[in-house]
Amino acid sequence: MYETKKIHEIAERKSDEIAQIQHSIFDLAEYGYEVQKSASYLEELLEKEGFQVERGIGDIETAFVGTYGSGKPVIGILAEYDALPNLSQKAGETKRCPIEGKAYGHACGHSALAAGTVGAAIVAKEYLKETGKTGTVKVFGCPAEETGFGKSFMVKRGCFEGLDMCFTWHPMDHTTLWGRTLAYYKVRFDFKGITAHAGGAPELGRSALDACELMNVGVNYLREHIISSARVHYAYLDAGGEAPNIVQDHASLLYFIRAPKMSDCDAILARVKKIAQGAALMTETDVNIKVFGGLHDNLPNPTASRILSDAFVAEGGPDFTEEDFAIARKFLDLLSPEAKEAAIKAGAKAEGISEEEFAKRPLITSVEAVDDRVMERQYTASTDVGDVSYIVPTTQYSATTSIPGTGLHTWQFAAQVGTSIGDKGSIAVARAIGRACAEVWENPEVVKTAKEELLEATGGEYVSPIPDGVEPGDGM
Ligand SMILES: [Zn+2]
Repeated sequence: MYETKKIHEIAERKSDEIAQIQHSIFDLAEYGYEVQKSASYLEELLEKEGFQVERGIGDIETAFVGTYGSGKPVIGILAEYDALPNLSQKAGETKRCPIEGKAYGHACGHSALAAGTVGAAIVAKEYLKETGKTGTVKVFGCPAEETGFGKSFMVKRGCFEGLDMCFTWHPMDHTTLWGRTLAYYKVRFDFKGITAHAGGAPELGRSALDACELMNVGVNYLREHIISSARVHYAYLDAGGEAPNIVQDHASLLYFIRAPKMSDCDAILARVKKIAQGAALMTETDVNIKVFGGLHDNLPNPTASRILSDAFVAEGGPDFTEEDFAIARKFLDLLSPEAKEAAIKAGAKAEGISEEEFAKRPLITSVEAVDDRVMERQYTASTDVGDVSYIVPTTQYSATTSIPGTGLHTWQFAAQVGTSIGDKGSIAVARAIGRACAEVWENPEVVKTAKEELLEATGGEYVSPIPDGVEPGDGM
């Protein structure tokens, strides 16, 4: 019989170590593929824990895999540890307060993500060690989740082959299944024109900046005629210079195209390319179009999701203390009256308590279990976990690491996740994913069902969204 009490005991024993991982990664705060110190720290820690570590997998310096155990089922756990630009923030500070000398910050909570996943791998390993069961756990170090398509490259390069199931999580304001996410492409449009004196000889100039403007206008008209679940975002990478009196002979745009499926993104991208070519034609400029990569939508595997949901329900959400609630109250007080009211309402509803009570302890400790409605929930964000979910039965949960309503990619999120609130979220995750692994090893027949569901969902088809010739880090 499956020794569930063991998981709880192990997680308890390892809780200080898990909290330490989260603070170490939070302080390192590195970006993209340049996460050498964070990767080394985790690799060395896993070796000390008895994992066999392979560094630089998929020909990516900062990607790794730590393996423990032998035989099937082989379970993968996906760790992330990259931070975000311009979002360095001191933990616990209720005002904008960058850490001196730090360019990046864990405003997406990947410090806790690393701690929860590596912690889960350690808990699962201890379970195998103490029970002598057959099974393998592999924890993958995946760099550059933020706009770098780290896992999409790792999938293309075969890093996840041989896995039977895969678990991961993401920090958020409550504990639930991370639903379907949008597929996405990242594309750069470089326009080249002819410069001239804008006052003296404007007729000789061909403006690359005009081409960008016309392209954006064209895409604005396109937005009405694409599926409403799609998103098309843009930014100017180069506006051609600062002098209005010089015709701009270079200008560049970066586009993100998101939609429920990669095939939707393909269809929209083809039309956006035509608009770019149209803009070039109108302005007699040239356009160079470069797709830097993309990622698939996330397909939560029903069997894997139910196993992880059951594990979360059984193990419980984060064990927040009065100290954690006191930190949370400080962040609740920062909100506008409307936002505060909405946060309290949402939290009280999730916890099944009065608004008054929730305002005193404003963190969601309960777990939302998976049902059909939760399985179908569509998020408008994107994640490279999606690519893994196309080739291995995969599921991702979220767990509470902030007060309700704190958006990811904000300094407020970084400030909260970096405290003991983030630690408690990570420990709850290590416990739940650890238990889910034990469940799969105890009932290996679930793998067959999960793989059948995956085949039904994808038809066995996976096309990498990474064009040939594009390398990790290109366009970052
Ligand atoms: Zn993230």
